Amino acid sequence: MKIIFLDIDGVLNHERFYKERHIKKNKTFDNLPHRFSQIDPECVQNLNSLCKDTQAKIVISSTWRSDGIEQCRNALEFHKFKGEILDITPNLRSDNCLRGNEILTWVKDNEALVGPYYQFTEYVILDDDSDMLYWQRNNFLLIDRFVGLTMGNVFQAKKILNNGKILNSNEL
Ligand SMILES: [Mg+2]
Repeated sequence: MKIIFLDIDGVLNHERFYKERHIKKNKTFDNLPHRFSQIDPECVQNLNSLCKDTQAKIVISSTWRSDGIEQCRNALEFHKFKGEILDITPNLRSDNCLRGNEILTWVKDNEALVGPYYQFTEYVILDDDSDMLYWQRNNFLLIDRFVGLTMGNVFQAKKILNNGKILNSNEL
């Protein structure tokens, strides 16, 4: 099973999104519940493309998961997310805890789904912070928090999820 470990702040929202909203005095988002107003629908479209072409499922690694998986689902689905949010990573709640450790723990806890953790390569970590583990380096995609998830990122993420192979869309 292919997994996308998804951060949200800096990935599905970004500096340009907030800046443009402010400049254009766009009120569309003003009356939405807090979390709902913090997502750029364009980034969700890009994520949809990644999920559709790879059949990968989402595990939320963002701090948003403290609201619970249903809240995350509601917020993303409100913005027309079409993929599947499978789970959230555990919260290891330590000051020195790297997000990479929480991701590793999830992988180890879910060997029934993804196989032995040391052989699991079909995953991508999308995050604008880089507190991942050294051995996750080939599966980590640093997202630019100024622009969020772009189609360029999606192209790279597809390659990672396909173990480095660039496939035609009809082969995915
Ligand atoms: Mg972030």
